[in-house]
Amino acid sequence: MWHDSVLGTIGNTPLVQLNEIVDNFPCTVLGKVEFFNPGGSVKDRIGISMIEDAEEEGLIEPGGTIIEGTSGNTGAGLAISAIAKGYRCIFTTTDKQSQEKVDVLRGLGAEVLVCPTNVEPDDPRSYYSVARRLSEEIPNSIYLNQYDNSANTQAHYETTGPELWEQTEGQITHFVAGAGTGGTISGTSRYLKEQKEEIEVIGVDPCGSVFHKYFHEGVFDEDEIYPYFTEGVGEDILPENMDFDIVDDFVEVEDKSAMQMTRRIAREEGLFIGQSCGMALAGAVQWMSEHRDELSADDVVVVLFPDSGFRYLSKTYNDDWMRDHGFLEKKPDVTADEVLSLRQKNADLIAAAPDDEIGDVIERMTDESISQMPVIDDDRDVVGSVTETRILNRLIENPDSRKDPVRTIMGTPFPVVPSSLHLEHLSAYLEEDAGAVLVEHGPDNDGYSVLTKSDLISALAGVGEANGNAS
Ligand code: PMP
Repeated sequence: MWHDSVLGTIGNTPLVQLNEIVDNFPCTVLGKVEFFNPGGSVKDRIGISMIEDAEEEGLIEPGGTIIEGTSGNTGAGLAISAIAKGYRCIFTTTDKQSQEKVDVLRGLGAEVLVCPTNVEPDDPRSYYSVARRLSEEIPNSIYLNQYDNSANTQAHYETTGPELWEQTEGQITHFVAGAGTGGTISGTSRYLKEQKEEIEVIGVDPCGSVFHKYFHEGVFDEDEIYPYFTEGVGEDILPENMDFDIVDDFVEVEDKSAMQMTRRIAREEGLFIGQSCGMALAGAVQWMSEHRDELSADDVVVVLFPDSGFRYLSKTYNDDWMRDHGFLEKKPDVTADEVLSLRQKNADLIAAAPDDEIGDVIERMTDESISQMPVIDDDRDVVGSVTETRILNRLIENPDSRKDPVRTIMGTPFPVVPSSLHLEHLSAYLEEDAGAVLVEHGPDNDGYSVLTKSDLISALAGVGEANGNAS
């Protein structure tokens, strides 16, 4: 069994039960996992649908050029269909989108123009305006305009909706989705409500977009439009494909909740999904918490997961990016000196000399309850280290070696670090090397202190408690 081309692999994506994150709700919660599409997102469905619609309407001839403004996913969907059908693609996108998305489009042979995000939609530099202008200039080209093109909603009416109805055997009671163009939520919901009117549809909007307020208050509030980081969802325009009449409720979600939920879905459910999936599930959890009394074991809530985590490797799945944007708590920034001052026993350095007998060293380790010590010679040079494990190995080999000098079993010296060294580097040393480093003190306190992994762990636990933060 094979497909005539890649186009045959679009749609029929799996529906997967979520188990961990939503286990405190009485209902079943399922994710419609759209990264299984060949272009990696839900937008493959509209790529083929909008191109075939343009062909039927006679709006494009063979060999023509497809132009679109796209956050990335629609571009991939269009590029795949364009390859199978022999069209050229030019896409405009914004500088807010992940580099991975632009790279995917170029990888699929499309030309990509990156336009500024923070300009008005009717500004000539906006990605909408540039796409429109190109389509006027290039012969035999079409600007598909996914925002207002009804073939977008129609694709979901014909595929996503029927798939959900069949996969749940008509048991679906709630459908939750984010909205960008509105095509997914409007087309899917229209089909579902035609099967069963009572199915409730919940839209999820990122804070900074216009949909939430427009839905609840009927106001298009330009003052509430502000930049946000969740990609592909929310708008600063009202697209024709967004049918508010078919939506029963709208919730809004902050970037931070969206990003953190995205990572939880990957870690707790094993689904490596994109940012707007996290936003959609965060919205679903928010809505289900507010409507807990209305939910029962018979309810089947479906949340649409539009794309893959591979599109956000440099963002949501990158700890530095997450921290820089305040989406992850910052690592507490302590220095080696501070770790030492936090520990309970701020003891003097316990060290062995190279000629100390192994037996004496064992005694000292037992008395002081330590499992390792540096070996320092008469010139105060750090020449090696000795650990319980090394001693044990020697004694097993030769039970009479208690009188041997410690230099015969010592290992490499612990790394010597300055007392001002920051936690990040300190933990890197401790991860790589033995269990300890030697912290060098300044000229007036000439000497070393041993700092072990367990000092670091207890210091961090102390800092976490002081910050009221366990992470
Ligand atoms: N999530 C992502 C990642 C998207 O790219 C899009 C499409 N812009 C959506 C959600 C929203 O889908 P729709 O345009 O059908 O409302």
